[in-house]
Amino acid sequence: MRFPLGKVREDRANQERWLGRLFSLTTVGLLILAWASVKAGGQAPAPMPSHRVLVLYSDERLLPANVIVDEAIHATFTADTGDHIELYSEFLDVVRFPGEEQRQRQRDFFREKYRDRPPDLVIAVGGGAFAFLMERRAESFGGVPIVYCSAAGDPHPEHLSDTRIADVPVPDTAGRTLEMMLRLHPDARHVAIVSGTGPRDRQYADVFREELTTFGNRVAFTWLTDLSMEELRGQLSHLPDHTVVLYLTMFQDAAGETFTPRQALDAFAPASRAPIYGHYETYVGHGIVGGSTVPFEEIGRKAAQLGIRILAGEDAQAVARSESYQTVPMFDGRQLRRWKISEQQLPPGSIVRFKEATYWEQYHRIIITSLSLCLLEALLIVALLAQLRRRRLAEASVRENEQRMSLAVDAANFGIWIRDLARNEIWASDKWRELFGFAPSERLELDAILQRLHPDDREALQGVLAKALAGEGRYETEFRVMLPNGGIRWISSHGRVELDANGQPVRIRGASRDVTADKQAELDTQILRQQVAHVGRISMMGQLATALAHEINQPLGAILRNAEAAELFMQETSPDLDEIRAIVADIRQDDQRAGAVIDRMRGLLKRQTLDSRPLDVGELVGDVRALVRADAAARHVKLDVYVPGDLPPVRGDRVHLQQVLLNLVLNGMDAVNGTGGEEQRVSITALLDGAQAVEIAVSDTGTGIPADKLAHVFDPFFTTKPNGMGMGLPISRTIIEAHGGRFWAENNNSGGATFRFTLPIAQEAAAK
Ligand code: ADP
Repeated sequence: MRFPLGKVREDRANQERWLGRLFSLTTVGLLILAWASVKAGGQAPAPMPSHRVLVLYSDERLLPANVIVDEAIHATFTADTGDHIELYSEFLDVVRFPGEEQRQRQRDFFREKYRDRPPDLVIAVGGGAFAFLMERRAESFGGVPIVYCSAAGDPHPEHLSDTRIADVPVPDTAGRTLEMMLRLHPDARHVAIVSGTGPRDRQYADVFREELTTFGNRVAFTWLTDLSMEELRGQLSHLPDHTVVLYLTMFQDAAGETFTPRQALDAFAPASRAPIYGHYETYVGHGIVGGSTVPFEEIGRKAAQLGIRILAGEDAQAVARSESYQTVPMFDGRQLRRWKISEQQLPPGSIVRFKEATYWEQYHRIIITSLSLCLLEALLIVALLAQLRRRRLAEASVRENEQRMSLAVDAANFGIWIRDLARNEIWASDKWRELFGFAPSERLELDAILQRLHPDDREALQGVLAKALAGEGRYETEFRVMLPNGGIRWISSHGRVELDANGQPVRIRGASRDVTADKQAELDTQILRQQVAHVGRISMMGQLATALAHEINQPLGAILRNAEAAELFMQETSPDLDEIRAIVADIRQDDQRAGAVIDRMRGLLKRQTLDSRPLDVGELVGDVRALVRADAAARHVKLDVYVPGDLPPVRGDRVHLQQVLLNLVLNGMDAVNGTGGEEQRVSITALLDGAQAVEIAVSDTGTGIPADKLAHVFDPFFTTKPNGMGMGLPISRTIIEAHGGRFWAENNNSGGATFRFTLPIAQEAAAK
């Protein structure tokens, strides 16, 4: 062919122009690249590949096994090598493009294609690819090391003269699968073997048929081969009982239709009335129960690892000898369930895929959580119910206690009050309000309450409360309340102070009771006692009357005689005035003597109430001695008195104590008169009894008190005298105890009795 010259020149000029532009653009581009590389911290450009690896597949790209192997090879090369390896993949697709002619075309194509980028290693995946390389070894990547990556059923050359070939044969998984299925179906009588009609299928079937001879007559084998897919489905659907199916491969059926073996399985498996087993992992999930497999991922990974070692310079055959495969029993969980095979029957180390998780497996977390929550909730409910019940019981018990308490409080006529010191609040029960004359709704203030107290008691109560708060912790007192209606009520109040954790008072609780009636009774008793005592004194006066009359008569007689003498003196013409003055002085003295006796008698007879004040014991005893002196003389009783001059005064009521002493002296005189003995003596002695009291004793030399009567002499109405009342000693003891003293009787060793009593020393004197 010829071209016009002008056109050629024009084109060359254009080309030069374009080349010039391209050159300048390239220069700029390189400069930019250099700058960018400096900017990027001097990073080196991507490394050139150190090795090229061609992965040559027998079959099409989408054969499931190829997809897995391809991924595993890529992943292993990427992960395991620091070198940058460039991977190429080629697919011979020997099933759909069979024949030597096709192979030759492919050979030519590869030769051209890889002329400039020859691989350093070829991985032949599958028997077809390996055969392709071996047939014309020199033409197909001659001299390049080969890794034969085979699956079950791929043929292996008996002997390899080429030392650059690494071949790790995969164990016979179909045979192992057959063993396994017969173990899982011990009642199986028939094994139907499914295989396609393609050359690959036949080749594999032939290899396997030879292996079957080792199974002998254990079961009957039926070959389902040379059938169209339709026929196969028909046969499978009419399989006799006790049959199991072993599927090898089906790349093509008798009708000439091609498949990937897995597509074929998808097509016929649903028709089978017997369980199907297969020895490729890619069949799992497509209708087989399971099989003994070598996972394709493992096959791909091992091929890549062998390749890496060979590229690193290791000997290919030595590398292959160092490797081997393990078979893995693999199952489809759904098929296991369909054919009622339990996982316990499976060989150890089995992998079960497509396990349809049971509800429990799927949702056990939710179930456990829900159950736990339910349980927790149930426990909470139970706990709450128990608590509620406890609370109700506690409330009921509190109510009952309150009722009992209020019943007891009401029965005892107690009014309860609580004073909160922090809040300065006072709460009181209705009964308390009634006692103090407050309305039920009336607000209670301390001042208002104190105002309601009798003025004489107010200060005392405040003192008592202050003492309790200051440390005593409790109080007990009595006071009078002036009611709004003008009445007066005696209240007895007990209380207790409550402390906080720091020992500070926080509250006072108290119970108050109306004791007006008790008080009245006490008063009545006191009056009665005084009246009885008065009667006692009158009675004693009766006893003394003769003697006292005599004592009064004496001065009166003396006065009369002195008056007569004075008259006589005054009848004289010159009366001796000095003598008359002396007589008048005697008259006055006698008059005073008689007056004193009458005063003492009147005192004893008149006074009734107890009036305590400091008393000189000597004077007290002296008064009594004066009263009984005449009687004693008349009765020939010697009256001795011994009172030390330095005795401190006692506190008491003069008249009442005189009555006691008088009674004792009169009893003593009765007792000594009863003996008729010579020594008739009654003695009054006083002495200090410790630091707080004075003891006064009246002893006699009389009959004494019979031992069995000693305990009864203080009983009211106990008397051994014909005209006795038996009230003297009980009254005397009441009087002494009212003074805070003790009173007792004892017999003297030398005969006679002694009555002793104590009286408190007047505090005014003790303080001195
Ligand atoms: P009364 O003198 O009216 O009998 P009292 O109460 O004074 O009543 O005395 C009661 C009794 O105690 C007397 O009857 C007497 O038996 C006995 N008694 C009192 N004092 C003496 C005494 N000094 N010696 C012996 N017995 C006494």
